[in-house]
Amino acid sequence: MNMECVLLASGSKGNSIYVGNDTDAVVIDAGIGYLKRTLESLSLEVSRVRALCVTHEHLDHVRSAKTFVKTMKIPVYGTGGTLDASIRGGFLPHNAKFVVCQDKISKIVGDLSITAFHTRHDATEPSGFVIDDGDARIGVCLDTHEVTSAMLEILRNCDAVVLESNYCSSAMQNNTFPDCTTCRNCGAHCCGNRHVLRLYPQYLKDRIREVGHLSNENSAAVQRLFDGNVGIIALAHLSENYNRPNLARESAEAASKESGTVIHVCDQLPEYRERRLVRFTV
Ligand SMILES: [Zn+2]
Ligand SMILES: [Zn+2]
Repeated sequence: MNMECVLLASGSKGNSIYVGNDTDAVVIDAGIGYLKRTLESLSLEVSRVRALCVTHEHLDHVRSAKTFVKTMKIPVYGTGGTLDASIRGGFLPHNAKFVVCQDKISKIVGDLSITAFHTRHDATEPSGFVIDDGDARIGVCLDTHEVTSAMLEILRNCDAVVLESNYCSSAMQNNTFPDCTTCRNCGAHCCGNRHVLRLYPQYLKDRIREVGHLSNENSAAVQRLFDGNVGIIALAHLSENYNRPNLARESAEAASKESGTVIHVCDQLPEYRERRLVRFTV
C-alpha cells in the first residue's frame, strides 16, 4: 500500500507532518494552528489519523498540540521526557492517552508501526520517528545538531527521509550567502540579496551550532552515508535567516550525485506555504 507524506509546515515558525496510507495515518508534531482544518483543506482524511507523535516540547512543534489532541480524541506518542515536558508546559491535556516510546522499540497503531529514536537537541528527550506500514517506511528527523551512527542506522533503512537542513555554515559564519544560482524568491538572481535577513547574536549562533540544528553541510554528509539507499529525501526546518532553499538543495544534490535520489525542499515562508508544500508518496 502506498504511504503518503505531507509536510504541512516546516521551520522555526511551525512544524507538522502527515504520514499515512489508505487506512491509517499519524501526524508528527502540531506546531501550526488550525491543524485539523489544514488537513481537511488538503483532502487528507482526518478520520484515518490514529495518533499525534511529538518530537520534542519546543513551541514550533507543539503549539496547537493540546487543541488538536482534544478535537481529534487521539493518543499522543513520544518519549517520556518529551511527554512530561509538554504536559508541564501546558501543551498537552493532562487527561489525554499517552504512549511512552522507548528508543527504537516499535509500537503498533492500526496498520502502522511507530518507532521513536533519540535525536540530539537542546530539549528534554527529543526524538525522531520512523513510520512503517509493512510496505513502505518513512523516517522523520528534525531538530538535531548531529546525526549519530545509531540514528543513521535507522534512517538509512527508510524509503524516504524528512531530514533537517537548517543553516548554511558559511552564511552563519559571515552573515552573507555564498554564490548561488537562484535566491529565495525562486528564480531571482541572488546578487542583490546576499545578506542574511536578520543577524543573530553570537550566543544564539553558538547554541544553534552546538546543541541546536543541522547545517546544510552536515545534512549532506548524512545523506552521503545513506549510500543511495533512501529514494526520497525532503529537506526540512530551513532557517529563514541563515538558509535558502536553493543552497540546501544544491548541497543535497551534490551529496546524492548519480544515486537517483529525489530531493524535495520544504521552506517555511507562510505566504508561500501552498507553493512550497512538499507532498510525496512511497
Ligand atoms: Zn524546531
Ligand atoms: Zn527544537
